[in-house]
Amino acid sequence: MHYEKIFEEIFRDLQKKEDKGEVATYIPELASVDPNQFGVYLKTVEGNGYSFGDAEKRFSIQSIAKVLSFVLAYGRLKSDVWKRTNLEPAGTPFNSLLQLEVDRGIPRNPFINAGAILICDILVSELENPKDEILAFVRALSGNDSIDYNPRVAQSEKEMGNRNYAMIYLMKSFGNIENKIDTVMDLYFHLCSLEMNCKELGSTFLFLANNGVVPWSGERILSPSRTKRTNALMQTCGFYDEAGEFTFKVGLPGKSGVGGGIVAVHPGRYTIAVWSPKLNSKGNSYRGMLFLEQFTTVTNLSIF
Ligand code: GLU
Repeated sequence: MHYEKIFEEIFRDLQKKEDKGEVATYIPELASVDPNQFGVYLKTVEGNGYSFGDAEKRFSIQSIAKVLSFVLAYGRLKSDVWKRTNLEPAGTPFNSLLQLEVDRGIPRNPFINAGAILICDILVSELENPKDEILAFVRALSGNDSIDYNPRVAQSEKEMGNRNYAMIYLMKSFGNIENKIDTVMDLYFHLCSLEMNCKELGSTFLFLANNGVVPWSGERILSPSRTKRTNALMQTCGFYDEAGEFTFKVGLPGKSGVGGGIVAVHPGRYTIAVWSPKLNSKGNSYRGMLFLEQFTTVTNLSIF
């Protein structure tokens, strides 16, 4: 298939329509991003890569990193992870406190903020040096040693983190947080600040398209069963309270972030990473979603 040509055609089509989204503005580092950038990268499990536009420009992957921290915790705790977090779609915004109170401090799933903070608590307990070890894990998955946190973004996240602090205090009050609040939150804010480009993102997630094994190194990251379950979680919980819409329109498991990135996985075939900074009202990349919808429609490459 001529992926690059398809990318170009879909992009040209999208350019004819207004980009109705808005960039995230809650921290200056996201508010100042050039909203017109657009990148795509598709990588097959056989190792072929196809890119378009700003595929090599790094951006803040934000909540996409929640999948990576979850995978690290899941690989260690196995099914015990489900004693600390549920696995149901939230149906409420990613930073909602309502459900957390009703569910007595057990997050709805590991991909909403409360769930990702809980996973950070697990990693603080499990790892000697969690910040360095997460970074080493992500670098090994991507095959790229220059991937890093952005300390300015981490600091801004902390300054704007009142709601996230409210969540961890609420979970702690129910006995579901083991470690010091500041240590866990420092890890969470750094996780949000990871930066990658579409090429790196597509490569990093390729093990989820390949039964849990990094295709180019042969390293097993998750068992086939846990890989299947992680993809299922992305399908049901990967897009804030718009996972149903993404499933309906795109038909791939994936995860988005408020930096405007989306990564999606076709098990057994490929990953695709898209970046377009303007977000729709649910916090997902406006053009990114439209692009992927057209891509899976034109190529017939959705899982449904
Ligand atoms: N950094 C954001 C927060 O913790 C989450 C960003 C996202 O959902 O991508 O509030």
